[in-house]
Amino acid sequence: MVQKVIEVSGVSKSFGGVVANKDISLEVEDGKITGLIGPNGSGKTTLFNSIVGYHPIDEGSIKFEGREISKLRVQEIARLGLLRTFQQTRIYGEMNGVQNMLISIPHRKHGFMDMFGRNGNEDEEKAERLLEFVGLYSKRFLPSGDLSFGQQKLLEFAMALMNEPKVLLLDEPTAGINPTLINGLIDRLKRANTEFGITLLVIEHNMRVIMNMADKVYCLAHGEMLASGSPDDVQNNQRVIDAYLGAH
Ligand code: ADP
Ligand code: MG
Repeated sequence: MVQKVIEVSGVSKSFGGVVANKDISLEVEDGKITGLIGPNGSGKTTLFNSIVGYHPIDEGSIKFEGREISKLRVQEIARLGLLRTFQQTRIYGEMNGVQNMLISIPHRKHGFMDMFGRNGNEDEEKAERLLEFVGLYSKRFLPSGDLSFGQQKLLEFAMALMNEPKVLLLDEPTAGINPTLINGLIDRLKRANTEFGITLLVIEHNMRVIMNMADKVYCLAHGEMLASGSPDDVQNNQRVIDAYLGAH
């Protein structure tokens, strides 16, 4: 039986007079990579913020593993194993990679105090293994602010993995990254899915990227769900093509 880890039904969210999300429904299947595309301003980030509890929704329901989470707070949702990354990176530039990794684990069951306790070495080893996984091992002691923007995105991805999420929501992971690093990042995202078993919901503005990774794709336009289906179906959907062309 197909397990739905995230079920969004009829979600609406406005900011003042701006309807950012209108009657949105979307499902994320366990173990899969689901894509969320749409022109700038179509409401993708707003939907992420609603799912992870960053702001209350006006209407609708959001379930995680069958449990209603739309009234829970960010920390409570994160503790259930549902995490997101941001469109803008959130790392400390003066700290090195390992240090950023170690401060990125508030969502585990233990508090940040185990950094100083007997689990300290374990965390450090894990941090180093994950930095190796994203290809930043040799740069792990450099101030993170000295990394390229693409490398900072890889670090941010590794920081999210430190929390061992069940489901990870990635907001435009490849935005602003040069093409050589993009392929490496896509490869890492796919491996996190297959090797670590992390379910992914990925926002992408770049259609080529998402078509190359996703099992299923949803497309938003003007806050509404325009289309959903296999990458091929969505890519060839005339409404989707028009929405993208109209946006430029
Ligand atoms: P996307 O991520 O697809 O580019 P967003 O979800 O960021 O789109 O934005 C959708 C719409 O909601 C935009 O018109 C945006 O200006 C508006 N919006 C998003 N967040 C806020 C906010 N905190 N306050 C006011 N308007 C917002
Ligand atoms: Mg956005």
